[in-house]
Amino acid sequence: MQDQNSRIKNQIITSIRRGRLVHAYAFTGGTAQQRTELGTWLCRTLFCEAEDKPCGECLPCRKFLHGNHEDFLIVKKPQDRESIVKDQILELTDRLMLKPFGSRYAVMIEDAQLMNAAAQNKLLKTLEEPASEAVIVLLADRREALLPTVLSRCVCFSLSDEASSFREEAAAEKLAGLILSGAEYYKKKAVLEDIIRDKDDSRTRAEDFLNALEARLMTLLKEEKTGNGKTSNEEVSRLSEAVKAVLEARRCIRQLHSVAYTLKQLCLRV
Ligand SMILES: [Zn+2]
Repeated sequence: MQDQNSRIKNQIITSIRRGRLVHAYAFTGGTAQQRTELGTWLCRTLFCEAEDKPCGECLPCRKFLHGNHEDFLIVKKPQDRESIVKDQILELTDRLMLKPFGSRYAVMIEDAQLMNAAAQNKLLKTLEEPASEAVIVLLADRREALLPTVLSRCVCFSLSDEASSFREEAAAEKLAGLILSGAEYYKKKAVLEDIIRDKDDSRTRAEDFLNALEARLMTLLKEEKTGNGKTSNEEVSRLSEAVKAVLEARRCIRQLHSVAYTLKQLCLRV
């Protein structure tokens, strides 16, 4: 589990460094402990002022670790209720209208699967017109409990057991090899057949797979740039083209396009 969290943290740090911070993240599945660890890590990272985030030493980090960072907001189910209700989200959105003390708010919604439909729809409005100074982190035990419209506004990380995340990584590794060697379409598509045919979990697995493939392709490109690899110019352009195709495919998956169609298009493009 720890390895999976480390991989996700690396992915997030890389995208933050590339200036691709988004307004909402969702961590779904896995254990409660795993979700909380990732959620609090992300919020602390968003506040940290050091180059190497989260440093644990700068003022925002120390405030956070002492549990008194003014801009860190937590929404959770009240003890006397069964769900997170709309009023709680209204209270949150009112607060987000005020300027944060520092550069931004970080909001963690614990047990987001307990938000009722009214609460989720209210939250959706905030996600659609994100206050530029807030990042919202949703933690949910299962992805299906969140409305597809809410999920589509978030960068989602599905936490799975190690066995299944290895499965997607192995497929990504294999496809990256086929892309490098310029293999035929049907060989590439064969690697993805298992994900396409998964009746229950196709979309989550496709997203995990695309994340793993992007990471693998970026590693191969980086090896080329630092001169450690034996990649030819033709291979570099194949890799760069493939990275673009992966980003496009992930966008399609998040916009709820057909998984089968999206993955087949990916195989045609790379
Ligand atoms: Zn720090």
